Amino acid sequence: MTEPEDTESSEIAEFRREARAWIEANHPGDPGFKLPQSFLEVESDQQFDYLRDWQRKAYEAGYLGLDWPEEYGGGGRPGLQRVVGQEMARANTPFFVNTIGLQWAGPTILHYGTEEQKRRMLKPLLSAEEIWCQGFSEPGAGSDLASVQTRAVETGDGWLVSGHKVWTTIAHKAKWMILLARTDPDVNKYAGLSYFLMPMDVPGVTVQPLIKMSGEGGFNQVIFDDAPMPRDALLGELGQGWQVAMTTLLHERGAADGSGGAEIGSAGEGVRRVVELAAQVQRDGRPASEDPVLRDRLAELWIREEALRLGSQRARVEGLCRDRPLALRLMNKLVFSEFAQDLADLSCQLEGPAAQLWLGDANAPDRAEWPRAYMNSFGMTIGGGTSEIQRNILGERVLGLPKSK
Ligand SMILES: Cc1cc2nc3c(=O)[nH]c(=O)nc-3n(C[C@H](O)[C@H](O)[C@H](O)COP(=O)(O)OP(=O)(O)OC[C@H]3O[C@@H](n4cnc5c(N)ncnc54)[C@H](O)[C@@H]3O)c2cc1C
Repeated sequence: MTEPEDTESSEIAEFRREARAWIEANHPGDPGFKLPQSFLEVESDQQFDYLRDWQRKAYEAGYLGLDWPEEYGGGGRPGLQRVVGQEMARANTPFFVNTIGLQWAGPTILHYGTEEQKRRMLKPLLSAEEIWCQGFSEPGAGSDLASVQTRAVETGDGWLVSGHKVWTTIAHKAKWMILLARTDPDVNKYAGLSYFLMPMDVPGVTVQPLIKMSGEGGFNQVIFDDAPMPRDALLGELGQGWQVAMTTLLHERGAADGSGGAEIGSAGEGVRRVVELAAQVQRDGRPASEDPVLRDRLAELWIREEALRLGSQRARVEGLCRDRPLALRLMNKLVFSEFAQDLADLSCQLEGPAAQLWLGDANAPDRAEWPRAYMNSFGMTIGGGTSEIQRNILGERVLGLPKSK
């Protein structure tokens, strides 16, 4: 197997060694309580504090925001954040709790923000002092995002927001929301949208928790009832919301460079864990890892995992993607989320009936992390644009097929 460090410059290899040593010395270890599997399921204060401390520590040590300019709190060393992401995945560190800030809001603010917005927002986002959520989806506007109905009505000194957002990950801990709202109902639906940096701690904002099929929280719906936003909450131009939101979605789907933290599809450690599981589980009195059918499936998943990792490396080399510049990048979210789902599915099959044992059951193999991952994997194939929508986009933008209606 080609390791990332096999082909890199001595400067990057040196940085990788430093990062690896720091991670080894500072890995926060097992907290002794149930951690969420991703930023999508952060529920209790205990989980949140542990994860926030980890992000702050990584930032203070100089391992977050490396690609961002120094004047906004970043490291000013473009290209190095990816190395940290790979090393953290290798060491199985906790994730960064402010993922929406690091991956979606931050890069969008860097792109469209005024100087004041960049100086005000980015540093506390990196240190996890201020958490971000995303207010795009509504009960009647998910895949069809341009149908957003939440209104932002201009007043003398800002806007008043009214409407209903749903599936709002981590809104219960957020200080800010990236908000897509309708500012002009009389023009076509795309031109009537604007994009805001909405404070969550103002009157008229109600956050209500939603519970997932795994029994875990992390999701919310957010009701706005004439909630005030200041004038400088607008990001980009009035009426430019659709364009700004598309930039956010490119980052959310892993199709753009420049996140402040870990990347989609960069884990690369999943199959190794399933191979270990297969060696522990018995089939007909022998380790399941000796079963040829299972070995075939593991090999197939390993090839997919390698293809993902190499594809994301290739996407960074312009000369290798000239024929279809967007193809690999646009495939990232679709391919990674479906791979993760298949991996969790195979692990549950390996565990057999024991996969029915749930969190907290002392007999559950691997502390029930695989059945939990399987349930959570459906969120990954839906959130940020469903697999069907991703296939539509690839069909239209990469293969040149006719537009879907
Ligand atoms: C774990 C998770 C976290 C999320 N976090 C956030 C968040 O923080 N902020 C936020 O704003 N939103 C969030 N979402 C919402 C997410 O973006 C939407 O769920 C997603 O865009 C789909 O919208 P919908 O649920 O309204 O489904 P719908 O749009 O109603 O789709 C229903 C079904 O119809 C299919 N479908 C719809 N249109 C088409 C079409 N044109 N062609 C083919 N098939 C189609 C879809 O693929 C899907 O299977 C999250 C969702 C999940 C699952």
